[in-house]
Amino acid sequence: MKLYLASGNAHKAQEFQALADAGALRGALEVVSARAAGGMPHVDEDTGTFAGNARKKALALRAKLGASLTGADTWVLADDSGLCVDALGGAPGVESAYYAGPRGDGAANLAKLVEAMRDVPAEKRGAYFVCVLFLIGPDGAEHVFEGRCPGRLAREPRGGGGFGYDPLFVSAGYESTFSELGDAEKNKLSHRGQAWIAMSRFLDTIKIH
Ligand code: IMP
Repeated sequence: MKLYLASGNAHKAQEFQALADAGALRGALEVVSARAAGGMPHVDEDTGTFAGNARKKALALRAKLGASLTGADTWVLADDSGLCVDALGGAPGVESAYYAGPRGDGAANLAKLVEAMRDVPAEKRGAYFVCVLFLIGPDGAEHVFEGRCPGRLAREPRGGGGFGYDPLFVSAGYESTFSELGDAEKNKLSHRGQAWIAMSRFLDTIKIH
């Protein structure tokens, strides 16, 4: 089964490939990045919901692939994700990629969050990551899966791995940030990993392999 990934984020594509290679669907899935399929078309993420934005991305890539989408085994997958911080009323949430401005600058977003949380005490630093996966089947049927990862925010960024808010996020029950954990460990806990498991269960029920 071929899974076209509707994302221009190279790091996300890597995480999805690692999930595909490690999970129950190992060997059954070939993940094709939007870049390898000619590039991800620009999408305004303006629906106000994770599922709405993910749907827009999946439909945009599907429309671009058009005639080249052949075979009963070809699916399109998009994700939309973000970090919801309790002390900020759930912000940056669906705006996570553009928290510090329209350029989608990950370092600036992180710096803005560190600053916004500067005076927030330890017991009020709760946060969770959310990921919604939007899957479109060969017949055009749409399927939605959600994953969440609860945790808290460190005071200062720590670690060199990952992307986005990883250096600040500490998963529940851990002391290391996602950046310090490294990709393999992060994928086992992460919102993307949880959503992937939900999707894998669905694909397993329809016996794609
Ligand atoms: P989008 O899903 O590409 O619209 O972007 C979501 C934004 O949320 C990213 O640009 C990051 O800022 C943040 N984000 C989502 N998932 C993660 C993650 O696993 N680690 C760190 N930041 C993330």
